[in-house]
Amino acid sequence: MRRRWAALALLFLLSAPALAPSLDSPITVVVDAGHGGHDPGAVVAGVEEKDIVLDIALRIFELSRASPIQVVLTRSTDRYVDLKERVRFAERVGAVLYISVHANYVSDPRVRGIEVYVDDTRPPSDPSWRLAEAVLGALVAETKARNRGVRTQKLYLRHTDLPAVLVEVGYLSNPKERSLLLTPSYRERLARAILEGILEFLGFPGGL
Ligand SMILES: [Zn+2]
Repeated sequence: MRRRWAALALLFLLSAPALAPSLDSPITVVVDAGHGGHDPGAVVAGVEEKDIVLDIALRIFELSRASPIQVVLTRSTDRYVDLKERVRFAERVGAVLYISVHANYVSDPRVRGIEVYVDDTRPPSDPSWRLAEAVLGALVAETKARNRGVRTQKLYLRHTDLPAVLVEVGYLSNPKERSLLLTPSYRERLARAILEGILEFLGFPGGL
């Protein structure tokens, strides 16, 4: 029950901008900062994935104010939200798509680059693949990072029918990429690129 109230409070807090009457921006997109709270995600050299991706999500939200779409976040603070709840939230606010932002880790420190995941239950005709290509293309164009492609995996994104992708913006385990991810101007570029990829997918040419 407590959880339910917490979820309702979260919904109220986070969806307030989406519920504001606005004829200019009827299109709502949900951006999810992965992990949060007790779940730090990848931790390398004291850097926690949950903090990096929250910062990027907040930047996407800020940048979206100058865009034709409305971005709603699943979390705007360091808190954990149940995974299924994240996609249900996206459906409740009437989002047209869902993007989860993550940073990667692998034991080999030489591995670096950006990859975008689609759940392995999605058929080839699913728009998530096109969304993944649009976001990955924008990210690689903006950052010149290594393009590790669109990939597929078993993901909690299967709990929604919305177009949904999981973006891995870089490897915390790669020293060079970790230092980039710790640089605010680089995170701003990642945020801008993700938003541009979303806009391209939605048919807003020219982006920001
Ligand atoms: Zn993650």
